[in-house]
Amino acid sequence: SLSERLDSAFKLLKGEGRISEINVASTVKEIRRALVDADVNYKIAKEFTDRVKDKALGEKVITAISPSQLMVKIVKDELADLMGGTAAELELKANPTIILIAGLQGSGKTTFSGKLANFLKSKGKKPLLVAADIYRPAAIDQLKVLGGQIEVPVYSEPENKNAVQITENALREAKQNNNNVIIIDTAGRLAVDEAMMAEVANIRKAVQPQEILFVVDSMTGQDAVNTAKAFNDRLDFTGVVLTKLDGDTRGGAALTIKYTVEKPIKFVSMGEKLDTLDVFYPERMAQRILGMGDITTLVERAQAQFNEEQAKKLEKKIRQNQFDFDDFREQLQQIKKMGNLKDLMGMIPGVGKAIKDIDISDDAFKGIEAMIGSMTPQERGNPDIIDGSRRKRIAKGAGKEIQDVNQFMKQFEQMRQMMKMMNKMGAGGKGLKALG
Ligand code: GDP
Ligand code: MG
Repeated sequence: SLSERLDSAFKLLKGEGRISEINVASTVKEIRRALVDADVNYKIAKEFTDRVKDKALGEKVITAISPSQLMVKIVKDELADLMGGTAAELELKANPTIILIAGLQGSGKTTFSGKLANFLKSKGKKPLLVAADIYRPAAIDQLKVLGGQIEVPVYSEPENKNAVQITENALREAKQNNNNVIIIDTAGRLAVDEAMMAEVANIRKAVQPQEILFVVDSMTGQDAVNTAKAFNDRLDFTGVVLTKLDGDTRGGAALTIKYTVEKPIKFVSMGEKLDTLDVFYPERMAQRILGMGDITTLVERAQAQFNEEQAKKLEKKIRQNQFDFDDFREQLQQIKKMGNLKDLMGMIPGVGKAIKDIDISDDAFKGIEAMIGSMTPQERGNPDIIDGSRRKRIAKGAGKEIQDVNQFMKQFEQMRQMMKMMNKMGAGGKGLKALG
């Protein structure tokens, strides 16, 4: 992967006392190769590494950091810059705000429309989804199912074959129902073609959207960049949505789209769950590519699920060493709500690489939940009373061996100790270290 390749490029500098022409040249060459292999076009990769090289040779050598750490920092900054520097927000001031979704068939438009509606709803907006894909009846149903899951209304006219008319009617409906954001899911085709472009362009002309989001499958690599160019030439879109970043993507699309079309990536979508939409932060993506994890995204997702009051209560319990199995079970449920377990763990620095090939399914917690489930309420609230005979009973109830319960109890106790310690140190420190 790109991360691994960059990591080994940095290793070329390990043990070097200082940055010199020679060692920078070979590192930079490796970085360039890694980028090209990740589907970054050669010209962009070359410009990128030339900048890295200039910066590296211009840096003063500070004894506190090693040349490889310095290089990681320079590459991270440059990667973030290449992807747009700072996060680009949606323009949501207009009432209603109209958001037009465009892209090829299968890129993830309909799924993204649902995710975006969910995202905006959680920010207090009142969205209306519009099914303007008139070619496949199944497309309307798909959007309706998504809308149902997130309790967002879906406007459709199954008999009408005029997408422009449908969207105009939808605007009227939105006005009546006080919807302040209108998300128009359009039809796509397998390849860029004139009829599709004309249709989206007509909708655009008719409804004058504030945002036109181009949705693209990040797994399509360099093709994604070419498609983006074709759509932008015709639609002059306002932002890009990269989907399927959870898949086996080589990263090239994320790195070069901004450079090529000069439009920001606004969202990245990972997975099919409706609450796994993330605002795109170039800096975090750069950290992620470098295998530095993405603690900030993780923290944010956790915060979105977390209720302040609950958090305070929990903190107090931890401080008084009263964290019990009821709290633990609640935590597990929170984690599961945050999305796919493997994605989540991949965001922790250093963990992503380690678990790459391990199968972590969402039911990894099942055994633990079974054990907690077979405790009595009294035991859950007072872990200290769980003695040998109780453990035997718990194991039996959960269909586990007594050793499993013993091990789990031990881990739980260690966790409690650690929590207490972190609490004393005033947790919240990010603990992010650059690679050495
Ligand atoms: P559309 O034709 O552009 O509307 O694409 P859809 O939204 O129907 O998505 C096409 C397929 O890709 C569906 O099977 C989706 O479940 C899947 N999909 C969409 N977004 C993602 C994503 O971020 N990750 C993954 N793994 N699959 C996705
Ligand atoms: Mg669709």
